[in-house]
Amino acid sequence: MNDVMTALSARTSPLPQFIGAEIYRGSTYGPWHPLRVPRVSTVMDLSRALGWLPPAQFITSPRAKTAALTGYHTAAYLAALQAAEAAQTVSDAVRARHGLGTPSNPVFSEMFRRPATAAGGSLLAGELLKNGGIIYSPAGGTHHGLPDRANGFCYLNDPVLAIQSLRRNGAQRVAYVDIDAHHPDGVEHAFAQDPDTLLISTHEANRWPRTGAITDQGAGQVFNLPVPAGLHDDDMALILHELILPAVTAFRPDAIVLQCGADAVLEDPQSRLCLSNNAHWAVVAALRDIAPRYLVLGGGGYNPWSVGRLWTGVWAVLNDHEIPDHLPDQATGVLRALRWDGAPKRLQPQDHWMTTLRDAPRQGMIHDAVRSGVAQLKPRIVGA
Ligand SMILES: [Zn+2]
Repeated sequence: MNDVMTALSARTSPLPQFIGAEIYRGSTYGPWHPLRVPRVSTVMDLSRALGWLPPAQFITSPRAKTAALTGYHTAAYLAALQAAEAAQTVSDAVRARHGLGTPSNPVFSEMFRRPATAAGGSLLAGELLKNGGIIYSPAGGTHHGLPDRANGFCYLNDPVLAIQSLRRNGAQRVAYVDIDAHHPDGVEHAFAQDPDTLLISTHEANRWPRTGAITDQGAGQVFNLPVPAGLHDDDMALILHELILPAVTAFRPDAIVLQCGADAVLEDPQSRLCLSNNAHWAVVAALRDIAPRYLVLGGGGYNPWSVGRLWTGVWAVLNDHEIPDHLPDQATGVLRALRWDGAPKRLQPQDHWMTTLRDAPRQGMIHDAVRSGVAQLKPRIVGA
């Protein structure tokens, strides 16, 4: 058997597991916040409407205990976050120190319980993957969270907690791949100097948080590729085959964590990238069989239709379900029931958002910045 076959045979759980929860349904960061839209509940509803989420593959996410969060977060921050949820207000001092009660990270009714549930899913995933397997937790992927403060819509950093949990449960070498439109500053902060954690990120150049320079090297295992506005599927295919796959394969990871943020698609209001969801699904599929443990997380994604369709398709890819060209009535009903108050004018709902999961591919000439960026990073791949 080759290495990949040996790795895969270590998987004892034959079916991928979906970690979700009802707390995400109806939870909102407030009427003007990009995270006013439903996301995880749409994925659960669509997957069930398509017959893809039987009880045997669904796990209700536990809420993480405070003590379990101190692997990355400070006790003072966790106490402030819980106090803010209880009081539904914060002092100026707490706002200044911990970044709570800001436009990005507002006070809202589930501001501790919701992220603690996503973090609980990530911590549990590391345990469940002890002997190998595939887990999907679309509520995870909050990659901006910092030890002592909220940041960029993220209150806790569940990807960091997931990697720590994987390591406690037998995975020494972890490859973290992040295809969200934004750089995972919190994850890089945590692991930049850890040679056992490979960090690969594609993110829109010159966009918040403006970290993630191509020159970052960490302990030699940090690969940041800022990508230009207009990034399309052919660009991403080149990045996948010339950078992501060679780097991950050469690293020989015991586990792969993919942050699959949905904000790099054309229909998303928070980036100028132009991927179709086919690009994300290609990455999900290509990374699936490289390591014995595979955890796929969500992340950004602010158009309720594009994020719901993309992330449901991720679950299909993980399970080898064929994605139908036209959705059955029950699934279109889920999509037609969504609302997006305050949608940008350029993003008024389109008919195929209601009737399909798969976007039309978005192809084009490879951007020079993509080609040159990959060429700059590729020599740093050890053993490639
Ligand atoms: Zn993002």
